Amino acid sequence: MQRTITHFEEVKFHSVKHGTCPGCGNKTSRKKTFYQTINPYNRTVDGIVKDRRTIVNELAAEAAAWRKLPTWHVRCELAGEENDDEGQDT
Ligand SMILES: [Zn+2]
Repeated sequence: MQRTITHFEEVKFHSVKHGTCPGCGNKTSRKKTFYQTINPYNRTVDGIVKDRRTIVNELAAEAAAWRKLPTWHVRCELAGEENDDEGQDT
């Protein structure tokens, strides 16, 4: 049996933020990569397949929202919330 793996192009957006951890009060920085794939099912609310530019704009907006959030250390953040669901990819 042969399985075809279709590889969709991934659009990534790297973001870094610096701040003071609300958990321990020390300065810290966090890195996060936002990404989406270009594929026939990834559409805008208007039903148009998202192109690279649309996706980059969305990722940049996500990153901007993320940078406004407090800059927690990973460890301090995990200590604060036990039910952190990893891999929230849709
Ligand atoms: Zn901390």
